Parts: sequence; structure tokens; C-alpha cells
Amino acid sequence: MTSAHGALYTHKDCREVFGYSIPGETEMTAQRLDGRKLAKTIENDLAPKVAALTREIGRTPRLVVVLVGDVAASASYVKSKAAAAKRVGITADVFSIQESTTTAELVSTVEAIGRDEHGPADGILVQLPLPDHVDARAVLDAVPPDRDVDGFHPVNAGLLSQGRPHFIPCTAAGVQKMLLDAGVKTRGKHAVIVGRSDIVGKPLALLLASRGPGGDATVSVCHSHTSNLKEVTQQADILIAAVGIPQLITADMVKPGAVVIDVGINRISDGDTSRLVGDVDYDPVADVAEAVSPVPGGVGPLTVAMLLENTFSAAKERKKRSVMAE
Ligand code: NDP
Repeated sequence: MTSAHGALYTHKDCREVFGYSIPGETEMTAQRLDGRKLAKTIENDLAPKVAALTREIGRTPRLVVVLVGDVAASASYVKSKAAAAKRVGITADVFSIQESTTTAELVSTVEAIGRDEHGPADGILVQLPLPDHVDARAVLDAVPPDRDVDGFHPVNAGLLSQGRPHFIPCTAAGVQKMLLDAGVKTRGKHAVIVGRSDIVGKPLALLLASRGPGGDATVSVCHSHTSNLKEVTQQADILIAAVGIPQLITADMVKPGAVVIDVGINRISDGDTSRLVGDVDYDPVADVAEAVSPVPGGVGPLTVAMLLENTFSAAKERKKRSVMAE
């Protein structure tokens, strides 16, 4: 709709500012994909299972988190992971290590944790990013694959690529869970993922292209060298942004009726304060899309919920292995 001055009004402007809808046009108010609510449900389902396992093994399942340096965002993520673990009955212990540590020292610490030298470690997580001078790959490779609850070890990445996943990277698993929970059909749909990182874009592409529920999609992966990004995103039935550029995905890049998942977490300053935004320009995109996940409150809480599920599975598998060894 165009104003007397030629300004283009969106459906949302008319609804919110002027209090009426555009006559004769279908109003699109996207469903808000509430990751917090779904994460709560997952936690509620998990808590009794953790309690039963605790009784079986005579201790609480335990997650060891390795936190290097004092990056505020990392510390805050670790804090919320530990709080969520506590809510379901998992012990989370944080190993805080000085920024000045070396790759060799970190590798040896992670290996020692993996040998249970610092108490039973059912799940081990190295909080990223690591300082630039540390070889992150070497550190992640030191996590034993059967405790690798982040799913970053090459063994787990390889298993996922072969369609026999063990530990799936938490954010990718969270996105798939969100789609399944919302009843979004992926089979035969075109899913476009913007971002090809080892921790989000790539594992998500594998998941959505895998056989079975939550999969069977035709997947396109875009990155910083994609020359015609808008042309590709406009073809997406399911569009996932995992880039790290505030509000990169604008309404004109979204096909009407698409499902849009925003993985991005970006802190932007707002005068004297700052706030979190995603990679998706939420309000205008919500006028076009069928469903959109918000930031915060979308994929973030599900990433944590998937970490809890992985840690529970790791503890359960460890129990099974110990029974078989007896
Ligand atoms: P990376 O920086 O590892 O990857 C970003 C990807 O975006 C790269 O593949 C890069 O391409 C691509 N890219 C960069 N610029 C463009 C562009 N202009 N057009 C298209 N693609 C582009 O980031 P992560 O995957 O680790 O994280 C992505 C975002 O998700 C971040 O905001 C991060 O904070 C957030 N995140 C959120 C989580 C959650 O729980 N919600 C968990 C993990 C991350 P190239 O490969 O060519 O460099």
C-alpha cells in the first residue's frame, strides 16, 4: 500500500500504526517459532530420565565445560548451559583456563579430562571461540568421540555425513527439532542455508538432506562467495540464516510463505545500550513469511536443550559400555 506521499506501507504498519488492514489483500502474520517454549518441554521430558539414570549409576551425569579466557559472551553462554544442566539434574563443571594457555597445554588438559582424571566426564565441551593463537582443531580433536557432546570431532562429523549420526552438533539438531515440532514438512522442499561453518551450516545441510523425518530436502548452501544470494534465498521454502551479519536477510530476499530460521546472534549498539539481533530483519520478514524464529528466544535455547540431550545420551551409553565390559 502506498501513502499520499508515496511512502510504501507494510501490512504491519497498517495494522500497528493505523489500526486497520489493507482491504482486499491477505495479511500475513508469521507464526513466531518459540524456541524457549520448546526447550522447556524438552527439559521437562529429560528431567525424569536423568533422575532414573542417576539412580542407576549412583551419581548425576556430568558435563565438563572448558572455558578459555574471559570473553563475556562465552562466559554468559557457559553460564546458561550450566544453569540448564542443573535444571534437568545434570552436573556441569566449568574448567576456567587462562587466555595465555598454549595449544599443547589445552590438548593435554582435554585429554586428562577425557581420561576422567578430573572426575567422571560423561560429556566434554570446549567453549568456542578459542583465542587466535590456539589451534582450535587440535583441541576439539582431543575430545574423545564418545564424550563429544558438541559433535565437532571428525568421527562424529564423518558419521553424520554417512547418514548414521551419533552426536549431532547442537545448533543444527536444534534447528531440525524446531522444524519438526512446528510440523514444517522438509521432504521435497528447497532448504537454503546461508552459512557453511563446520558447527552450523555444514551439519545442518547434511541433516536436512538426510533420509527420513526432518530430512529429504533439496539443500542449497550459500556463503560469502555466493554471487546471487538474493536469487537463491528467494527460491527457499525453508530459509536458514547462520552468518553473523545483523539483519542480512531482508523481506525482499524471502519467498512469500517461506519458513525462516534465524541462527545468528549479533550484539548491536542502540545509543547508550546494546541489544541482540539475528541475521534476519524480523518484522518486515514476518510480514512475508509463514513462520520465523526470533532472536533471542529462537534457536539459542534449543542449542542448549540439544546439549543436554547429548550429555544424557553420552552418560547412558557409558553405562551400557561399562555393563558390557563387566
Ligand atoms: P562462521 O563465522 O563460522 O560462519 C559464517 C558463515 O557465513 C560462513 O560460511 C561465511 O562464508 C558466511 N558468510 C559471511 N558473510 C556472508 C555474506 N555476506 N553472504 C553469505 N554468507 C556469508 O559463523 P557460525 O556458523 O559459527 O555462526 C553464525 C552465526 O550464528 C553467528 O551469529 C553466531 O553467533 C550464531 N550462532 C548461534 C548459535 C545459537 O545457538 N543460536 C550457535 C552457533 C552460532 P565463508 O565460509 O565463505 O566465510
